[in-house]
Amino acid sequence: MENVRIAPVVGPEIESGYIRIEGDTIAEVGRGRPAEDGDAERIDGTGCLATPGLVNTHHHLYQWASQGLAQDATLFEWLVALYQVWAAMDAEVVHGAATAGLGWLALSGCTTSSDHHYVFPKGRGDLFGAEIEAARAVGIRFHPARGSMDRGQSQGGLPPDVVVERLDDILTATQEAIDTYHDPSFSSRLRIAVAPCSPFSVSAELMTEAASLARAANVRLHTHLAETLDEDAHCLEQFGMRPVDYMEKLGWLGPDVWFAHTVHLSDGDIDKFARTGTGSAHCPSSNGRLGAGIARVSEMLARGATVGLGVDGNASSELTTMAGEMRQALLFQRARYGPTALTARQALEMATLGGARNLGRQDELGSLEAGKLADIALWRVDGAFDSAVTDPVCRLVFGPRQPPLARLLVGGQTVVEDDELRTVPQDVAGRAGADAHRRLLRLASEQGFSAAKEVHA
Ligand SMILES: [Zn+2]
Repeated sequence: MENVRIAPVVGPEIESGYIRIEGDTIAEVGRGRPAEDGDAERIDGTGCLATPGLVNTHHHLYQWASQGLAQDATLFEWLVALYQVWAAMDAEVVHGAATAGLGWLALSGCTTSSDHHYVFPKGRGDLFGAEIEAARAVGIRFHPARGSMDRGQSQGGLPPDVVVERLDDILTATQEAIDTYHDPSFSSRLRIAVAPCSPFSVSAELMTEAASLARAANVRLHTHLAETLDEDAHCLEQFGMRPVDYMEKLGWLGPDVWFAHTVHLSDGDIDKFARTGTGSAHCPSSNGRLGAGIARVSEMLARGATVGLGVDGNASSELTTMAGEMRQALLFQRARYGPTALTARQALEMATLGGARNLGRQDELGSLEAGKLADIALWRVDGAFDSAVTDPVCRLVFGPRQPPLARLLVGGQTVVEDDELRTVPQDVAGRAGADAHRRLLRLASEQGFSAAKEVHA
């Protein structure tokens, strides 16, 4: 890749330079022109900005199939409305939703995505395997988290009993997912995490057992935390303490843990995250839609805590893109703290290196440096409407529409070219998502759910 502007995230930016790729790895990042290299493939980056591929650290791919419902609800109201829809999903729904969702992410510059799948209705096929198959076809690096819920309404939890599993079944299935799929190697395209859903849908026993299981297998831990004030109230009432204190008591702070949201943190909570290396996935669009609040991201970064970005499930963020979340994060922080709260480059760093840290892959991903994997987004910034902005990083992060994606490389292999998916045909991926949506609503209506009633719930 040559004649390209480079924002490597680590190290100085380069006005015009090159990135030399060997196999799936970056061999060299330099200024000017590269030495002649025989018959190596060359990508001309004239008029483009190269950044590290974006890393998405919180998602629920299956929610592609349940967008647009419960539009004006709080998190708890929204969950209660949707649990009954999700109870009807099967492997076909998950496969279609994940194909569309991961294709959509790739088109927004994302080269690595996690997913948090925590609804496993009985007798509905291999849901976890279905999303892994979709990720392989789309060709992006995938970190699916085997989620779970075991505390239904009869145990004081929020979800109906029909969508929760038994503790033993959860632990067996989680271990199986790790044994079957987890690849710890340097250039891994598939790693598994362990992710009980949230304090209000999971027993303390499941949280502690899940942590021991994950640590014995050397995989990472993930859950939702401190998303809303309702959750604060629930934790105080049920456990006598606030969410971060509760997780600390259960052994859930540490460098192998990252939480989604962490909106409602005290000063002491932020210090604990910074001290223990606990990460956060900031999901501003979802927090905005559900009226959850604005996370204290700029304060967290200032105190040295790890923060990455997440699009969150499409049912709470509606077609959010990774590039869009950089802008949303920037604007939210400035609206709350003023114009110096977060720079465009800090937003880019959260979307790349911050995400890589959340996934424990900061040595492999998140910046353009020799020795790291060749996961690169090449943004076209010389179009008639783009080129009037002096600083291409400003154009990428501040702009309300992402610049065209000239190329997306995952391990040096092309996944997107000229805004078109090159792995799964784009129309096939889009249709798979639409079919999953129709199928899920049909299956749910057979179980008595009425979409018309829930749209404005
Ligand atoms: Zn979530």
